[in-house]
Amino acid sequence: MTDTIEAPQAVKQINHWIGGRRVAGTSGRTSPVYNPATGEQTGALDLATPAEVDQAVRAAKQAFETWRTWSLAKRAELFFTIRELLHERREEVAKILTAEHGKVLSDAIGEVTRGLEVIEFCCGLPSLLKSEFSEQASTGIDVYSIRQPLGVVAGITPFNFPAMVPMWMWAPAIATGNTFVLKPSEKDPSPSLWTAELLKEAGLPDGVFNVVMGDKVAVDAVLEHPDIAAVSFVGSTPIARYVYETATSKGKRCQALGGAKNHMIVLPDADVDMAADAAVSAAYGSAGERCMAVSQVVAVGNVAEPLIEAIKQRIPNVKVGDGMDASSEMGPLITKEHRDRVASYVENAPGEGATVLVDGREGAPDDGFFLKPSLIDNVRPGMKAYEDEIFGPVLGVTRVDTYDEAVGLVNDNPYGNGTAIFTRDGGAARQFQFDVQAGMVGINVPIPVPVAYYSFGGWKASLFGDRHIYGPEGIDFYTRGKVVTSRWPDPATSKVDLGFPQTR
Ligand code: NAD
Repeated sequence: MTDTIEAPQAVKQINHWIGGRRVAGTSGRTSPVYNPATGEQTGALDLATPAEVDQAVRAAKQAFETWRTWSLAKRAELFFTIRELLHERREEVAKILTAEHGKVLSDAIGEVTRGLEVIEFCCGLPSLLKSEFSEQASTGIDVYSIRQPLGVVAGITPFNFPAMVPMWMWAPAIATGNTFVLKPSEKDPSPSLWTAELLKEAGLPDGVFNVVMGDKVAVDAVLEHPDIAAVSFVGSTPIARYVYETATSKGKRCQALGGAKNHMIVLPDADVDMAADAAVSAAYGSAGERCMAVSQVVAVGNVAEPLIEAIKQRIPNVKVGDGMDASSEMGPLITKEHRDRVASYVENAPGEGATVLVDGREGAPDDGFFLKPSLIDNVRPGMKAYEDEIFGPVLGVTRVDTYDEAVGLVNDNPYGNGTAIFTRDGGAARQFQFDVQAGMVGINVPIPVPVAYYSFGGWKASLFGDRHIYGPEGIDFYTRGKVVTSRWPDPATSKVDLGFPQTR
């Protein structure tokens, strides 16, 4: 592929989407949007006031009255149309995504494709909403359960997957009959507006899907709004905790997915080349800005030397450049501030007693927010490079002597999103799956993001709430149960009975 697109010449104003149309902001506050590959500002994002959030919620509340009456068959048919349109035009949204996020185009297309899988799962909503029925639970009495939508629900999303993570939320929310208000990241908001237009084109009624652009003011307005029944959040752990505590204190259902520090354990019997390929792919793909990125390799025993050597050899081959250049494998970071923060871990590592084997600050392109892959050896608990979620192309290596020490590191870590083990020993892998405290586990798979018909979510500080996102738990999150007890007796047999109803 040789695709390139020009960065927009003028800074474009990025508005809200309320009630099926673009709505210009009135706050007078805006936030800059950049092309991270050039460092140039390409957009000015309207930041919503609480009144604008309220306007979106009112549009969603009004639309809910009709949307919830749509038959399952009609909703499923619409989802098939959405799936077809998105599938056909996924490269279009991927280009918009790359221009604001920076990830390489092939990675952006991959993101949209993984999001599409969630939409495909939702095409089966008639099956997903099937309930239980007990005939003759008591004499002449039937009992059955139904699941109904919550009403207006909201999603607050991070910068690193500006198309896929919103799909994790809006697709199951809307499929199950809710109406939706999305507050995307202010750093790369345009894929959300593109999605809104696509959903309208597909035939989604106005007001079912709304987008409010904004910062903390908009988030707080969402959390406070009495007509929002549930909030899904994906982002960093401190904000996830805040969102969960605030939303639940207001009586809302909430799932808040947070940050991560994903360890990849390599046992002495692992295939070294395969483990090195996996570590390089999972650490530096998307410039390490993935919540499932491997940020820490744990080398057990004598695998350390050959493994580190194999990783080091591969790093110079990673092609860093503009994500629109088809030959690039790794793009820039999201902002200059974030790039500088990530680089500071490399700078400070020697002072902490770690060893910088590859310094990604050297030779990084001057334009834009680039940092090349870095590799740090002898990273240990207590060091900032170990404790913090770096969220960039910096891979740490910790050397340990035993499997138990390796698992102990993962289990002692406050995060519990993803983890992986590389080994040829099935027994060791099975023991790892049993022992490890993390929500998503890979066995010779470095980024074990579950397929769409399972659910995604971490443990410990990587998830606040008791429902994982998308898959069956996503359907559960966006619906609530009702149990109906019914009888059709002959009125002639009716009598007053003050006794407690019994089932026999
Ligand atoms: P972030 O927490 O800074 O922002 C996420 C959302 O919260 C954005 O919409 C933002 O506008 C809003 N926000 C930011 N500060 C806020 C505040 N003070 N009050 C209220 N709202 C606020 O996260 P990010 O930098 O956009 O994304 C990267 C983070 O997201 C990483 O920590 C990464 O691990 C995490 N993440 C987790 C998952 C997961 O599934 N667990 C997936 C993707 C990203």
